[in-house]
Amino acid sequence: MQPDGATLHDLVRDLYPLRRSITGNGVRETLALLQRVTPLAVHEVPTGTPVLDWEVPPEWNLRSAWIEAPDGRRIVDAAVSNLHVVGYSTPVSGDFQLEDLQAHLHSDPARPDVIPYRTSYYSPAWGFCLAHRQRAALRPGRYRVLIDASLEPGSLSYGEAVIPGSMPDEFVIYTHTCHPSLANDNASGMAVCAYLARWLRSAPRRLTYRVIFGPGTIGSITWLARNHEAIPRIAGGLVVALVGDRGPLVYKRSWTGASLVDRAAEAVLRQAPAGTRFIDFSPWGYDERQFGSPGFRLPVGRLTRSAEEGYPEYHSSADNLALVDPEALAGSLGVAQAILRLLEANRPLKNLSPFGEPQLGRRGLYRSLGGPASPELQRAMLWILALGDGEHDLVDACGQSGLPVDTVLEADQALRAVGLLG
Ligand code: ZN
Repeated sequence: MQPDGATLHDLVRDLYPLRRSITGNGVRETLALLQRVTPLAVHEVPTGTPVLDWEVPPEWNLRSAWIEAPDGRRIVDAAVSNLHVVGYSTPVSGDFQLEDLQAHLHSDPARPDVIPYRTSYYSPAWGFCLAHRQRAALRPGRYRVLIDASLEPGSLSYGEAVIPGSMPDEFVIYTHTCHPSLANDNASGMAVCAYLARWLRSAPRRLTYRVIFGPGTIGSITWLARNHEAIPRIAGGLVVALVGDRGPLVYKRSWTGASLVDRAAEAVLRQAPAGTRFIDFSPWGYDERQFGSPGFRLPVGRLTRSAEEGYPEYHSSADNLALVDPEALAGSLGVAQAILRLLEANRPLKNLSPFGEPQLGRRGLYRSLGGPASPELQRAMLWILALGDGEHDLVDACGQSGLPVDTVLEADQALRAVGLLG
């Protein structure tokens, strides 16, 4: 059954407080929560494993972290917000004068009331993040600091749902799992992808799907390094992330910008509410850049709403549950499903009666008083027949007609049923 926006938002709410990073128990708890929606294989890749030009880092687990003011009040506490601690902070325990502590504090003067989100994965450091207004009010004196964390050999965890289809071709869907307590970035992507995987399992498919839940950058690099044998079978893919805010949908094109997934996404997104944007490939953003790198050049596009720095709440405590809109989540899932429905059904169009317009009325397909076809269905049939020279496909029929995917697929079936399409 199709989940409604509230169901998706409930999952975002449950994912939101978990203490995620690129490794650690918070990621495992996240994957366990997602497994309630859809079965996932959980892979653990040991620290130190070479992955492409990288290496799996030590595993980080945070137990507690706080700062106590000179009067003994606890003024910053990871128990209140996960964002208060710089991700991958090394352990520390001691007393610091405010002027020495300042080098380890992070705040954003441009957004003085929010806690910014900071990490230091690959250069050892410790630090705290806090609202600039709070930081500015700190009085000189001796502050007590604790970060009780471990940074030691362990593993990187990622989840993968492999959903076999009848064809050898595969399609990857990737979403990042490494952000703690940020709702749009990327609890929204995880929630939508979990329900996408569940929906893909609900009916037989032609393509084989791999829905991957892994940390940003190092996760897709690890997956690519471990799946060499699958790479030649990958026909396309989609990175789905930051899909819960109220901004319009944005599709980022794959490397060529002209692959099947690009064409399908453009055909579907042109039907979506106004404001939808298309952007070209760029070598930054999310995990699409790993799939599109020169050694792989996999046609993987990206579906987001307000991505990267494109919204004022980005990477801060203001990216919270209120920012995520149930209808936006449901809309994002619906668009991703429509793209995949179109890719599943896609085939070259061959009109078997190509000389002039075939007589639809004789075959019960012409709309007359009380006839079966809606005006939209009628137009979809005419487009499919017009494109049926063997050089065009159903994706073209959607793109050129501007009609909804389901109408075009219904028209395709109707024409097939009367033998007008080969
Ligand atoms: Zn982010």
